[in-house]
Amino acid sequence: AQAAFRSDLAHLLELIGTGKESLSFMKKRIRHLAQQWLRAARRLEQKLKGRQRDQKHILIHIGFLTEESGDVFSPRVLKGGPLGEMVQWADILAALFLLGHSLRVTVSLKELQRCRVRVIDTFGTEPAYNHEEYATLRGYRTNWGYWNLQPTQFMTMFPHTPDNSFMGFVSEELNETERQFIKSNKVSSMAVVYGKEASIWKVQGKEKFLTILNKYMEIHGTVYYETQRPPEVPAFVKNHGLLPQHEFQQLLRKAKLFIGFGFPYEGPAPLEAIANGCVFLQARFNPPHSSLNHEFFRGKPTSREVSSQHPYAEDFIGKPHVWTVDYNNSEEFEAAIKTIVRTQVDPYLPYEYTCEGMLERIHAYIQHQDFCTTSSPPLPPKAKSPAMQSPPSPLALSPNATHLVWSPSASWDPHAWPPVGSLQVWVSETQHACTETCRRHGLVCEPTFFRFLNKKEVFLQLSITCDSTEYEMNHLYPAVAENVHECYLQKEPLLFSCAGYNTKYRRLCPCRDYRKGQVALCRDCL
Ligand code: UDP
Repeated sequence: AQAAFRSDLAHLLELIGTGKESLSFMKKRIRHLAQQWLRAARRLEQKLKGRQRDQKHILIHIGFLTEESGDVFSPRVLKGGPLGEMVQWADILAALFLLGHSLRVTVSLKELQRCRVRVIDTFGTEPAYNHEEYATLRGYRTNWGYWNLQPTQFMTMFPHTPDNSFMGFVSEELNETERQFIKSNKVSSMAVVYGKEASIWKVQGKEKFLTILNKYMEIHGTVYYETQRPPEVPAFVKNHGLLPQHEFQQLLRKAKLFIGFGFPYEGPAPLEAIANGCVFLQARFNPPHSSLNHEFFRGKPTSREVSSQHPYAEDFIGKPHVWTVDYNNSEEFEAAIKTIVRTQVDPYLPYEYTCEGMLERIHAYIQHQDFCTTSSPPLPPKAKSPAMQSPPSPLALSPNATHLVWSPSASWDPHAWPPVGSLQVWVSETQHACTETCRRHGLVCEPTFFRFLNKKEVFLQLSITCDSTEYEMNHLYPAVAENVHECYLQKEPLLFSCAGYNTKYRRLCPCRDYRKGQVALCRDCL
């Protein structure tokens, strides 16, 4: 059946059920954002008018809230514990419901049958950690990985790695009246500290940078406490205690600066702050934090290197909204504060974090991603005539032959998604992953396209000399060891990976274009 956009969220609130603080938090959030969601759904409905949208039956199993998993989150909702997960689940529920799908929500393992078709996975799972045999052989085995899923079945909180799908969440959008009101009511000397738990104040060098900050600004906090000020929070900080989400946002509307102390990593709050017209100031991590050197990331199925508390804010938003500085360098820190206090900054929310952006993205995933028909990524259709057996012909070959653009008229499946017409092949430098290689060309790595590059002919088309070509299991392949003229193709499609590099190889990278503000979708992906 065709899915019909819904125009009311009341039934969803019933579906979510009761009896846990976490569920109440999610329902309160959905109620508060209801008008915004409904407006966005109407806009997307207009945009997609006449388009086929299949109605799906979707079982939503909120695994981290089950008694069987210990439900460590619910008791901490009112005590400064993590809320990001609940923010995201609330938004996923709202989006799926508004798109018109038929939902069942469970928070009990008994109601879950064998079903892991899409996994909500905050920080992501890279292919090398996902493939059980490879992870075990090569030392990538962690507590969370090795499920042998297609990597795009994992859906993340931020567009961390294109190997996974970017699910995201939403932040409140302002209308013109609210924008004007906020701009005229900003208190340029007011800073709010990022962090609900007292433990985040146990940061090295705190006295030094807080003293500098306090020279220019009044410092506010929203740190949870029971009866008295937590000893970690200095007396000159005005602590409001943990606030309900809506009141926290009101505080951000007045504040000029939202300042991070390095933890929590990659949460929703900085986006909310920026959306409410704050500047977000955060520490640069040098060296970057990763599962190799930091307790928090240890055992997580990713080798991603985190260059600051919030790399998305740093890379996708940047100045004037986001300042990433070295907190140990007092001059750099003070100069940033001085500039921030006297610059006017408009509220900003990337499209992919608006209600419409999230609905658009989830609509595209549901309509086009297919994890059911094959266990490995589908291969291009068999050629029917001899003329069609050759690989797609390059449309253009740059002078140094490191770059191929696929002809969109080639004989590939017109229903393939993303459409092959958006593919460009680039050869990486030895010190770069495909993620970085594509980024440097203003593109994004698209793992579903690896299957088109994993062919001997492609090396030839790129003028790469191969004295030998071998198929092996390695998450960096297809690649070439240039100095010895050895070429390698990928034997295991589940290991196709945008992440990873090794100075021995130059990798073949499948890149594609993307929509401004919606990195998950290529230009012709909707
Ligand atoms: N938040 C809140 N009250 C506060 C501070 C934050 O309700 O006093 C909310 C905030 O609006 C955000 C959520 O907590 O949506 C999660 O924020 P954070 O970035 O701290 O991520 P977490 O570590 O909780 O996942």
